Amino acid sequence: MKAVRYHRPKKITVDNVPDPKIENKNDIILKVTSTAICGSDLHIYNGFIPQVKPMALGHEFMGLVEEVGPDITHLKRGDRVVVPFPIACGHCFFCEHQIHTQCENTNPNYGPEGGLLLEKNAALFGYTDLYGGIEGGQAEYVRVPQAQFGPRKVSEKMTDEQVLFLTDIFPTGYSAIDWANLKGGETVAVFGCGPVGVMAMKAAWLKGAGRVIGVDCLNYRLEIAKKSGKAEVINFKENDPIEAIREMTGGRGADVCVDAAGMEAERNVLEKVSNMAHLQAGTLNALKMCTSAVRRGGTVSIVGVYATTYDNFPLGQMFDKMINLKMGQAPVQRYIDELMALVDQNKVILDDIITHKLPLDRAPEAYHMFCNKEDNCMKVILKPH
Ligand SMILES: [Zn+2]
Ligand SMILES: [Zn+2]
Repeated sequence: MKAVRYHRPKKITVDNVPDPKIENKNDIILKVTSTAICGSDLHIYNGFIPQVKPMALGHEFMGLVEEVGPDITHLKRGDRVVVPFPIACGHCFFCEHQIHTQCENTNPNYGPEGGLLLEKNAALFGYTDLYGGIEGGQAEYVRVPQAQFGPRKVSEKMTDEQVLFLTDIFPTGYSAIDWANLKGGETVAVFGCGPVGVMAMKAAWLKGAGRVIGVDCLNYRLEIAKKSGKAEVINFKENDPIEAIREMTGGRGADVCVDAAGMEAERNVLEKVSNMAHLQAGTLNALKMCTSAVRRGGTVSIVGVYATTYDNFPLGQMFDKMINLKMGQAPVQRYIDELMALVDQNKVILDDIITHKLPLDRAPEAYHMFCNKEDNCMKVILKPH
């Protein structure tokens, strides 16, 4: 079969590889009908998260059940399912506490310490050997471990495009807002108007926000934030977003700031050089903007990815402002059923951020285009068959 494989930074190819097989009793094999490229795939593509051996990428996918392992009783061949990106067992301490990305049973590199090259959280599809070495779903077929807990059946009346983003970006944006415990009427500022940022905006409205502000430096993304996220927008290359947000909020700042950019936010040349000297990946620019723009006693949610230790982390400012800081990879399994119901009831539309639909064969050019933000690329869907 064909799979989109990472070889080294900036080098991915569509390779012929052996078809996946059932390896454990609770695996299924899925025939992938749709898969998306994620901003976090770019962290691997750009070498920020290391991978030595070639590996199939892709953690946002759905498809038709092709084969089931002997312990899988609730799914059968032909069922159409969408699959959460974290691989979780459903019954360990962490799964029982609804933080499925911390599941202790799926990643051989799991451990209590955490960190860059140390122990990581639960296994993720197509996300390097550090995260379990599970082949990803940007492929014609994929093996899905722990299928007793992850895959969710999809009603025939919903298209792939309507539900595909339940795998990651919508639950991720939603968790950023859920962590802030909105009571209604709050101002939510989202830094980074990529796919996760816009999903956070949609979630903010669903959770009762009174005002949603999007901050980015790319006008085409700000346009999508306006249209699809119903946000007021600020281009931080043209206006100081901190001043603007304070002005919009009686001088106090936003109740909630979401960092949906992470370590690969805009960096200047000095930072790029200092990155190489310090073994520090990326920048804290987005988080620093959030820390300044949030009101005292407000919440900063980080759903953009950070991978190393960081110099000049604004801890004193956070302490003085009494900020609630919450972060991590979204426990998709916790939210996916309620979010699928919202899609089903047309309470939220997710597919209006798709800008490109391409065959799997064109993945290398799609990565290049998405990474370089060419052709107003916001979200790419790949069709393997
Ligand atoms: Zn993703
Ligand atoms: Zn578990």
